[in-house]
Amino acid sequence: MRAIGIALGMMLMTSPAQARWALVIHGGVGELTRAALTPAQDKAHREGLAHALDAGSAVLSHGGAALDAVEAAVRVLEDDPAFNAGRGAVFSHEGKNELDAAIMDGRTRAAGAVAGVNRTRNPVTLARAVMEKSPHVMLTGTGAEEFGREHGIEEVDPGYFRTEERWQELQKALRSGAFDGRTHMGTVGAVARDARGHIAAATSTGGITNKRWGRVGDSPIIGAGTYADDRGCAVSATGSGEYFIRVGAAHEICARVRLLNTSIRDAANLVNADIAQLGGTGGLIVLGRAGSGGWSFTTPGMYRARVSEGHAPEIAIYADEDPHPRAEP
Ligand code: ASP
Repeated sequence: MRAIGIALGMMLMTSPAQARWALVIHGGVGELTRAALTPAQDKAHREGLAHALDAGSAVLSHGGAALDAVEAAVRVLEDDPAFNAGRGAVFSHEGKNELDAAIMDGRTRAAGAVAGVNRTRNPVTLARAVMEKSPHVMLTGTGAEEFGREHGIEEVDPGYFRTEERWQELQKALRSGAFDGRTHMGTVGAVARDARGHIAAATSTGGITNKRWGRVGDSPIIGAGTYADDRGCAVSATGSGEYFIRVGAAHEICARVRLLNTSIRDAANLVNADIAQLGGTGGLIVLGRAGSGGWSFTTPGMYRARVSEGHAPEIAIYADEDPHPRAEP
């Protein structure tokens, strides 16, 4: 379990008395070291995270809902080609971008998800439409997009999602025959708490390079990669999705917080350690109803950022970048 001791040190956001609203986002995990990233990649990812924080905090600082904030932040990351979601998503074995997303409202536990869409510009917004405008939780493929068209969700030509870098990653994977959950991670996600004390979570991804057979990971599975419950916490995950599904990661963290009164930090670290025990790697962002939260990951780095009322934004990539934790509530 490499680097688990360091990386699992979970940051706590702030004390509830200080924070009315809070937002934590991620742009995926992986072999993110200073040696692996070029300065341009480092910069592009930090800028992308900063823009997403701005979009989400603009909602929250004006008294908006956590649900609107997570959607706003994730849409920015979907539009940013640096991240593996929306534009810039990884390619499947057949050379397609197949996008998955989910969103959940902790206030009502309403949830929506889509899997395997390839024309929807912002899959998180389609997931929200599924939640609000259909009697279902999850729609897939062409059916999901037909539903989206009926509800005016923006579509683009599938070529919109293509970037040369992701295409080359697929060519490399095809040459080596690899289907490895670790080849490329870069899912995006957000968790937020609004001034009324409600929480929400959203996740969006292109999945894993060279995926086949309509493979769907944890991101759009409610309870695996995404979950929010005002009685517990909000979670968005990234990493080797099959393991997060098997562990029911996001729901288990929330259940531990709600039923066992486990702290946010311990719940996230315990579940991440369980995943590592099975052979999976990845990370989670978590936010509690009191506004405390942060991240936990078992990889050398995680694109991550947070901001809360009264605190300056913090953006980090590498495991050793975390600032000193603030006081635990
Ligand atoms: N968890 C995502 C999936 O398995 C991939 C990722 O986080 O990069 O589809």
